[in-house]
Amino acid sequence: MRAFAINKICLKDLSFEQAIDATARGGFHGITPWYDDVSHLSPSEARRLIADSGLTVSGFCNCGLYALKGKDGRRAAIDEAKRNIEYAAELGASSIVTVVGGLLPASKSLDEARDFAFDCLAETLEFARTTPVTLALEALHPMYTPDWSVVTSLATANDWCDRLGAGIGLAVDSYHTWWDPSVYAEIEKAGKKGRIATYHISDWLVPTNHILLDRGMPGEGIIDLAEFDTKVQSAGYDGPIEVEIFSERLWKLDPDQFLADLMKRCQSTYSG
Ligand code: ZN
Repeated sequence: MRAFAINKICLKDLSFEQAIDATARGGFHGITPWYDDVSHLSPSEARRLIADSGLTVSGFCNCGLYALKGKDGRRAAIDEAKRNIEYAAELGASSIVTVVGGLLPASKSLDEARDFAFDCLAETLEFARTTPVTLALEALHPMYTPDWSVVTSLATANDWCDRLGAGIGLAVDSYHTWWDPSVYAEIEKAGKKGRIATYHISDWLVPTNHILLDRGMPGEGIIDLAEFDTKVQSAGYDGPIEVEIFSERLWKLDPDQFLADLMKRCQSTYSG
């Protein structure tokens, strides 16, 4: 039996406390909170609530987005990353999702944005290495380049990991990478280096009405999630399958009904 985890964004409108109860009721194995979900609690309080519900900490979101406030915001962005890494460590998360940010404000230079993000990431990594938390570098779909991430393929993410060394791995996300002709070769490469730190899934809907907020449950869209999973497993990843769905449509549903439908879909997609 595969273990399924819920990224808290799937239950955006629930409090952290409501979300862990619903996730446990739904038969899921773990949960990945975002900093804003748990910032009203100390890490030890949040850790205890998760353990008391019978769930595990699947991961933590997130750090990065270095370009958001421009070059002058560099220090604040890195400090915020360090704060979130510290929280993740005390929560007991083995990795933290790391999204490096897009273009710098008022700039069209991709080279400048990539150099800036890489430099900030390297500094963040120095701090992360003093903790047990692995940075899980996530490549996002290329349409997210301006706002969210100049790392848009697993090839680039693998290359950055090669250059940065220990303490950094990958968040492999089906939604962001399924289209890429080299995706399975890059998953295999990541597996050989033991760097798949976490694994996110959701489906690509046709048509997609909103690039960020219209993702689907397994089987609703066109990604061959079973094949994708075979490659991730063959690469040696044996952790939970984390469902991460941003969806204005699904956020409107009754959480228990949504999670029951989701679990059925997960079991039928990942049964083999
Ligand atoms: Zn993801």
